Amino acid sequence: MKMHQVSDHCYAVINEKNRVCDANSGLINCGGGVVIDTQSDLSHANRMIDLFSKVWPAMPKRVINTHEDADHVWGNQLFDKAEIIAHRSVPERMKQVAEPEESQKLLHSVGKFLTRLMLKTLHPGLAAAGQQLLEDYNFDGIKLVLPTTLFDTKYELNLDGKEVHLIYVGPCHQVGDTIIHMPEEKVVFAGDVLFRQCTPMGWTGSYEKWFQCLDLLIELKPDVIVPGHGPLCGIEGAIEMKAYLQYVRGEAKMSFDQGLTSLDAAKRIEFGPYGEWRAPARLYMNVERAYREFRNEPPDAPWDSSATFDAIFQVAKSKGITPEF
Ligand SMILES: [Zn+2]
Repeated sequence: MKMHQVSDHCYAVINEKNRVCDANSGLINCGGGVVIDTQSDLSHANRMIDLFSKVWPAMPKRVINTHEDADHVWGNQLFDKAEIIAHRSVPERMKQVAEPEESQKLLHSVGKFLTRLMLKTLHPGLAAAGQQLLEDYNFDGIKLVLPTTLFDTKYELNLDGKEVHLIYVGPCHQVGDTIIHMPEEKVVFAGDVLFRQCTPMGWTGSYEKWFQCLDLLIELKPDVIVPGHGPLCGIEGAIEMKAYLQYVRGEAKMSFDQGLTSLDAAKRIEFGPYGEWRAPARLYMNVERAYREFRNEPPDAPWDSSATFDAIFQVAKSKGITPEF
């Protein structure tokens, strides 16, 4: 984890491993201090706080959660008395998708020989994902702390005369997707609408909505985008991710029309240049999302996480690469 200065007042903490849960955080060091996203566990959150304290030693007055996923909200409890801002949907969604018990149980299971063996037999993908997470994370002690300041479409902050625009763009990756634009600094904190050099994972929403959001990132003409996952970039990050999603949707449609299952389609579709990205077999999720749209299923249909990790695992095995999540 390293801190980068991205403009006069904007900073980012980047998790270089860039695998699942390795989310980035942001800081705006004026107007009382604003932290954007709070990491996946308490030790990562504390490291982020230590890094940001070099340029903002006080407790930040505000926290923004870009959306409801665990890896962006599980450090909220360390920001005592801070105002926590998010889209109106986020508190209820956090209760649905970010309660820590299941993840705590998973890491305890893979940490013990016998339960690990059982899990490997039943759900090899989930077991592998759990083992990967165990290398870096400990979910013990995490309590959900929900945002309290909620907004619908736009929310503006004025930090010592500098404008910060929170723009609701969901649902494209999750229900609560929000980007944070600081026009004077030409910086956008994109949350998980942008994955950089790693395969995007989307849970709700539609391809069209995601394309619109990536177009908006490009139209805002920022010098720097801080993605939710992966290294800093400019608008080329949004352009590349849009091209990836277009490629996957097009390939998925061909497989769908041929009657293949989404799993078989993901095994068939070549990674192409995107094989260089982290966790390329997460392709499965993007294929399955496209299939849900082709079948006219609701964009918020729930995911079975065991089946999803197992499918990613199978796709990786079928392509002869080490499963990575
Ligand atoms: Zn994330």
